[in-house]
Amino acid sequence: MTYGDAMSRTDVINPANGERFTTVPSLGLEETDAAIERASQAFAGWRQVAPGDRARLLRRFAAVVDQHIEELAQLEVRNAGHTIGNARWEAGNVRDVLDYYAGAPERLIGRQIPVAGGVDVTFHEPLGVVGIIVPWNFPMPIAGWGFAPALAAGNTVVLKPAELTPLTAIRLGELALEAGLPPGVFQVLPGKGSVVGQRFVTHPAVRKVCFTGSTEVGKSIMAGCAEQVKRVTLELGGKSANIVFADADLEAAAAAAPGAVFDNAGQDCCARSRLLVQDSVYDKFLALLEPAVRAFRVLDPADESAEMGPLISSGQRSSVAGYLDGADVAFRGSAPSGGGWWFPPTVLLAHSATDRHWREEIFGPVVSVLPFRDEADAIRLANDTEYGLSGSLWTRDVGRALRVSRAVETGALSVNSNSSVRYWTPFGGMKQSGLGRELGPDALLSFTDVKNVFFSMGD
Ligand code: NAP
Ligand code: MG
Repeated sequence: MTYGDAMSRTDVINPANGERFTTVPSLGLEETDAAIERASQAFAGWRQVAPGDRARLLRRFAAVVDQHIEELAQLEVRNAGHTIGNARWEAGNVRDVLDYYAGAPERLIGRQIPVAGGVDVTFHEPLGVVGIIVPWNFPMPIAGWGFAPALAAGNTVVLKPAELTPLTAIRLGELALEAGLPPGVFQVLPGKGSVVGQRFVTHPAVRKVCFTGSTEVGKSIMAGCAEQVKRVTLELGGKSANIVFADADLEAAAAAAPGAVFDNAGQDCCARSRLLVQDSVYDKFLALLEPAVRAFRVLDPADESAEMGPLISSGQRSSVAGYLDGADVAFRGSAPSGGGWWFPPTVLLAHSATDRHWREEIFGPVVSVLPFRDEADAIRLANDTEYGLSGSLWTRDVGRALRVSRAVETGALSVNSNSSVRYWTPFGGMKQSGLGRELGPDALLSFTDVKNVFFSMGD
């Protein structure tokens, strides 16, 4: 799309060296309103596209993304400092989520409910224009988790990428047009949260806002949406627990723990940043963890073997560094020196569940470790937070795995594993980690409203 002429631009910085390498437009209110108006106009046609044709267009969009995986991945390495391995996965995830929801238009099935004197049927009607607000930590996946089901359900989409990481979203907007999506159906609007994002909240033609980001901004968006009873999905912060019981495969749990919190330099709402270890194996576990942390490969993100790159910005780096003040550092990994926002993987010992680094989302490569006594203690400590997004537990006892996984108040849990994101299973937070679910079979219906229609058979 073209964004018009008289508009300001924002610098785009490579976080691995701190240098500006391009600029992108930053939309004002007028351009935002014009885009929302185009989306509103396009909705009338898009909802009428036959289910099979809408499915075909989404599959074609997925195929075009697939042809550009490497280009998208390289853009993300430069713009977000993601490792090349992760960035390829992220671009592939956009393709997969599009493919998955391409199956939806033909399966958006209502019900026929028995009634006297006629026929009663339900329809899952699209909402209209959906506004998606994306953070900088996973620019591609989080965009796709919003736009793919929204489009599949027959909505049109305006999407605001984070100011820090707009490049892949802008490219995805171009690829959608290349794939044949009609103009106005999916538009990417780079700009500030306080301008473009806020307009999604206040513009009456936007019927739903999907927001991923900080809990603080999420609350203000929810409050703003209440004004128009606007639908909202929130995916907010986390402080997830990784619970290691004494009966677990300790070697496997220790080998996996660094990836569970240092992946994406810890800038992950699912990061298992609270490590709870049963006291009887605490020393043994830390001894196993130390070499795994020291071996974690923090390198130029373009290096094929990098496991972690830099933080997103200098501001993020100072905020993360602040958590080390007065903290008890157990051991650290390494990081390149020189330009860029580097920060080594860091393990902190918590002395009580009131330590600031134990309670607050750090959003950096820092994990806090605390021992626990028994199962009840582990559950109590894991739930002692307003967050509830993800988490892991490690045990060989099946009964314990069942009991603890039901007791931990979190939306996406894994047992003897740290992976909680699959595009075909639901993802989202309990408590102040969010509202609603993305991905899987659950997300689709949240982009629709149920309409009930009674047809009288007459007298
Ligand atoms: P943020 O302020 O919540 O930003 C997330 C997105 O919301 C960005 O696109 C941002 O736009 C936009 N936004 C900001 N203020 C807005 C408003 N008033 N109305 C509408 N949209 C608005 O997050 P952040 O400042 O980037 O990060 C701060 C902290 O939030 C992190 O350190 C981390 O703890 C947490 N966080 C969590 C997640 C997650 O996945 N749950 C993701 C990112 C951050 P701009 O581009 O203008 O900022
Ligand atoms: Mg912010």
